[in-house]
Amino acid sequence: AEEIGGGDTEVVKDYFNNTGFQRWKKIYGQSTEDVNKVQLDIRIGHAKTVENTILMLKDGSGSLSGITICDAGCGTGSLSIPLAKEGAIVSASDISAAMVSEAKRKAEESLVEGGTSGVTMPKFEVSDLEGLKAKNHTVVCLDVLIHYPQSKADGMIAHLASLAEERLVISFAPKTFYLSILKRIGELFPGPSKATRAYLHAEKDVEAALNKVGWKISKRGIVTTKFYFSKLIEAVPVSS
Ligand code: SAM
Repeated sequence: AEEIGGGDTEVVKDYFNNTGFQRWKKIYGQSTEDVNKVQLDIRIGHAKTVENTILMLKDGSGSLSGITICDAGCGTGSLSIPLAKEGAIVSASDISAAMVSEAKRKAEESLVEGGTSGVTMPKFEVSDLEGLKAKNHTVVCLDVLIHYPQSKADGMIAHLASLAEERLVISFAPKTFYLSILKRIGELFPGPSKATRAYLHAEKDVEAALNKVGWKISKRGIVTTKFYFSKLIEAVPVSS
């Protein structure tokens, strides 16, 4: 059975360069061939998270034009590409080289630089979150925390906050009773399309990690479908 995680970065990286890359590329893609019902459901839920993230960001700053945004753990560019379309200056990175090259390919295919909306091609880089150093106005990290056990999550959240000048948007799978059961069932019946080892996070734990470094939650949202669950939060420095 495919079991990844355990807080092991090398295992996660290897997974997202191989089986995980194939699986998620399909889920985040557009083709309906060779995609099962569960994967389609996840695709829809994830697309909603991307959409809500953009709404959340625009709600805070109006136009995203010229705003620097770090998309940490960018995957195949599902968020980076629409952000660039909105005129944002995007720095996208992922631990998986396969993900980064797919994101780059998709961006080059769907974005035209310049134009009336002033599109800038995102800057893509292979890097794990921990290796990121550059500061950006906004830092976004969608559906990555699921690969971090709570013991490592605090440090990851603190690091992302340190890179953000104005705000941090993170999504994570909430630790709720129902979801804990679903995860349990997934562990009991491992199959070929079994989800990657998933860590659920209690909202209060994520909030505590933010508070510890002087940040507070300013907006909250949630997306749930049958098989996809994601809490979306925006945080800002307490002093702001
Ligand atoms: N954020 C993207 C999105 O929402 O479309 C991708 C989400 S995908 C479920 C998780 C991504 O996190 C994968 O592309 C994986 O390679 C990346 N990832 C996992 N651990 C990481 C780490 N420590 N640093 C950077 N990226 C990581």
